[in-house]
Amino acid sequence: MMSWLDEFDEKLATLDTQSLRRRRREVVPEQGARLCVDGASLLAFCSNDYLGLSQDPLLREAVHAAVDRYGVGSGASPMVSGHSAANAALERELAQAVGLPRALYFYAGYATNASIVPALVGEGDALFSDALNHACLIDGARLSRATVHRYPHADLARLEALLAASQARRKLVISDAVFSMDGDVADVAALHALCERHDALLLLDDAHGFGVLGPQGRGTLAAAGLTGAQASRRVIYMATLGKALGVAGAFVAGPDSLVEWLLQKTRSYTYATAAPALLAEAVRAGLRCVLGPDGECRRQQLQAHIAQLREGLAPGSDPALDAAGWALMPSATAIQPLVIGDNDAALAVMAVLREQGVWVPAIRPPTVPAGTARLRIALSAAHRPADIDALLRALRIAAAATTAMPA
Ligand SMILES: *Cc1c(COP(=O)(O)O)cnc(C)c1O
Repeated sequence: MMSWLDEFDEKLATLDTQSLRRRRREVVPEQGARLCVDGASLLAFCSNDYLGLSQDPLLREAVHAAVDRYGVGSGASPMVSGHSAANAALERELAQAVGLPRALYFYAGYATNASIVPALVGEGDALFSDALNHACLIDGARLSRATVHRYPHADLARLEALLAASQARRKLVISDAVFSMDGDVADVAALHALCERHDALLLLDDAHGFGVLGPQGRGTLAAAGLTGAQASRRVIYMATLGKALGVAGAFVAGPDSLVEWLLQKTRSYTYATAAPALLAEAVRAGLRCVLGPDGECRRQQLQAHIAQLREGLAPGSDPALDAAGWALMPSATAIQPLVIGDNDAALAVMAVLREQGVWVPAIRPPTVPAGTARLRIALSAAHRPADIDALLRALRIAAAATTAMPA
């Protein structure tokens, strides 16, 4: 037994030597996008709170009112007594927002994907999965015991060939709509067309698109015009509520019969305590904001920040940045990854930024492919233009410091 425990220590030591040990920081929110991190005030570019709703007064008020009415916990599974009137209202509003017949509200995104995939397909069925899909889709695929065909990231020609070659009776294509570590957007219309042609279902994970992309922030499916019962009859849309919506949780939306099936067969839904009404009410307040003029204004601010950052990092804008050879990925979303390459180098850059009072997380394998360690810069409407300037200044200093280091 002891030798087994010793093994953990050895493996942890290996993570250290590879600069792969992950550490948490204790944070307390401050004004705007600032965080107090282990006691120090930092300007943060870490959060998926793309519209700045997590600190919004309207959401706070909604929570206070919900606590007065419902109390704190939901007390049971939604299949017993946990399905509050607030949760039910949220489901109707989410379905309407994405233009699909029906929605199901979950307490967490990870659990949603990990358990809806096994509810949809099983042994003998075929799954087609983008190589850069989120871990929870991958875990759902494994749990399902369906045959998994992994296609290279965004390679729709390869996906088509795999679909055409498959003899499986039921085929499910699973894809992130916005890829969480690259920031690029899947070609949803083309994916959908392939699914039509090969009689497959499409599961789209829009964790990073819902609230920010599409008309009124209704997400990537709405952006592709795939709304209404007919247009979306082979689509299962999934999005999370802890990112642009600023709260926590997730939902699945799609055809009536399919959502009813998921309600019956998704184990993380049936066998888990329902999300508390206070969260549902917070999401409802967030959704009202997202769909209204305030949401539009926040999305415009976010777009302006994206343009400002990309302009500031464009080749030729700074000699030290050019010399460092970092590559800003071609992303149009709030996720702006700057690829450094080496794990240690990415950590060193992160450390220099931190000395400058700026916090950008370094993302390393296995979250991203080996050799592509990166700074995942996440922008938010909570930032001010001066914050983007501060980040650019810190990056120039870090680039100068890096290129000055002996190789
Ligand atoms: C964050 C994320 C999830 C998980 O959602 P949680 O609600 O945080 O559990 C799922 N898929 C993608 C693409 C994500 O980025």
